[in-house]
Amino acid sequence: MTCLLEAVNVNKVYPFGKNSEQHVLKDVALCIEEGEFISVMGPSGSGKSTLLYNISGMDKMTSGSVFMEGQEISSLHETDLSQLRLTKMGFIFQQNNLLKNLNIFDNIVLSAYMAKKEDRGVIDQRAESLMKLTGITEIADKDITQASGGQLQRAALCRALINNPAILFGDEPTGALNSKAAGEVMDLLASINREGATIMLVTHDAKVAAKTERVVYMLDGCIMDELQLGKYEETSQLKEREETLAAWL
Ligand code: ADP
Ligand code: MG
Repeated sequence: MTCLLEAVNVNKVYPFGKNSEQHVLKDVALCIEEGEFISVMGPSGSGKSTLLYNISGMDKMTSGSVFMEGQEISSLHETDLSQLRLTKMGFIFQQNNLLKNLNIFDNIVLSAYMAKKEDRGVIDQRAESLMKLTGITEIADKDITQASGGQLQRAALCRALINNPAILFGDEPTGALNSKAAGEVMDLLASINREGATIMLVTHDAKVAAKTERVVYMLDGCIMDELQLGKYEETSQLKEREETLAAWL
């Protein structure tokens, strides 16, 4: 088994009060294979976001290692790490974090322009095809105040994919959406995964995890269990998948 991203014995400890500490991640080991759609599910406070921030190099773990495509990223210096995050990783969060003073299209292309690796024409073309894929072509020139929450999250997804990342990370990416928009974003992620993208989500929501391919269950900073659901193909499978996962929580 070759891992695109591998976490080995990752620990995160926060100071807690004056003389105490809180062990938020406890020897977490995880291998994400290329092309996988994996979710880490667990109750609020179990350490899911902390795990995502630490394995993606957004935060510094207390001990342990993370390898991406065989390269140890946990020992990289901040400049190399931010370059790696920019070019190899995409992120979506609960809030879309789009910039208010740019229109939708400019929000999507900004990080690729900043990376200065490709001509703007090439970047613009990719942005256009991502907008088409996510169904937001008609709002390209709009202000972010003129789009719905679901459209904005799809724009955030385009922004996350603009540099052709090797892996897409999502922290409760549908958490701020109504259930219809959330379902649409999850279906979009599933279809992007079927086209080959590697995706790792963290969520407390069994409905979200049910549309992923493998679910890892986290509790009190430990990975307790995991379930191979296989790729989600049709809605008739969903109810059973959701029920199985809800029983876990
Ligand atoms: P989840 O995403 O599963 O809800 P988090 O990873 O956000 O959980 O948090 C796990 C635990 O770590 C919580 O008890 C939280 O209070 C603690 N924690 C998270 N971030 C910090 C921080 N920056 N400083 C101190 N404690 C933190
Ligand atoms: Mg969280």
